[in-house]
Amino acid sequence: MNNDLNSIKTNFVQSLEKVKSEKDLEALRVNYLGKKGEITQIMQNIKNLPKEEKPIVGKEANQLRSFIDSELKEARNKLEQDRINSNLEKEKIDVTLPGKDQNVGGLHPLNKVINELEDIFLGMGFTIEDGPEIEWTKYNFDYLNMPPEHSSRDLSESFYYSTDEGKEIVLRTQTSPVQIRVLQKKGVPLRIVSPGRVFRADDIDATHSPVFHQIEGLVVDKNITMGDLKGTLELFAKKLFGEDIKTRFRPHQFYFTEPSAEMDVSCFNCGGKGCNVCGGTGWIEMLGCGMVHPNVLEAVGIDSSEYSGFAFGAGLDRIAMLKYGINDLRLLFENDIRFLKQFA
Ligand SMILES: [Zn+2]
Repeated sequence: MNNDLNSIKTNFVQSLEKVKSEKDLEALRVNYLGKKGEITQIMQNIKNLPKEEKPIVGKEANQLRSFIDSELKEARNKLEQDRINSNLEKEKIDVTLPGKDQNVGGLHPLNKVINELEDIFLGMGFTIEDGPEIEWTKYNFDYLNMPPEHSSRDLSESFYYSTDEGKEIVLRTQTSPVQIRVLQKKGVPLRIVSPGRVFRADDIDATHSPVFHQIEGLVVDKNITMGDLKGTLELFAKKLFGEDIKTRFRPHQFYFTEPSAEMDVSCFNCGGKGCNVCGGTGWIEMLGCGMVHPNVLEAVGIDSSEYSGFAFGAGLDRIAMLKYGINDLRLLFENDIRFLKQFA
């Protein structure tokens, strides 16, 4: 019997070495410890042995059963650990690999300029106003004191639509109609700027486009003078181009302001000596401005003997081109990603 147990042990150890999977291991367990397994059968046969052999075989069989049991458990743990290690190996993340590039967008240079101008004017107590891009001619021309013979009313100058009621609709040629709408809606006193898109029947070339952008401002209150206009616009120019910038005002003529002026700023590139940015003059044309014409105030029901105001308007595209050294207006509208990326 002792020999039987020894050979069982030897066979078991040999079989265990060949085990490759948990399935093999379970089959081995059934072979030895299952209901009909070799150890189980020996234990069941003990009762048929001679009396003096029973305790010896019983003890040795028990020891062998414990040995097989613990060897199987150890083998099972090892298989499990191998499986975990191999999974970890398969799922390993190489943190030294370069990551995928995230394409982060950027603001269009025009929007950057709009944001910057809005910040400057918000800092001076202005509010930002918006208005429709498709406008009644009444708002685009009539309220703004533009006479019937004004050239921009010409069909060849502006984009017109006609409606059934005979009222004329135009793609706004300037952001000024916003001033009228806000004056009518909010009344005075008022301090606003309105940046936006405007449309004129222009050909497109390096400096012209049928679509372009303006920012206009309007201040109406009691006792507003040309001094307020100059002070405000000088501060604006310094905040935009730097403290050393100088300004000058030249008389001009607009229909909705009287008196009217154009403001130049000293060239930020050459400091006034003359260069290709300023065309050798040392000055750059910046904006149009003036005191709001009394007719404009009266047209929206404001007493022009009590209230006065000033207005100004500048081309946003031109400011963006000056600020970023862009020499062709078309670049702003072509959406060439190679161009736009430079501002991201
Ligand atoms: Zn210059």
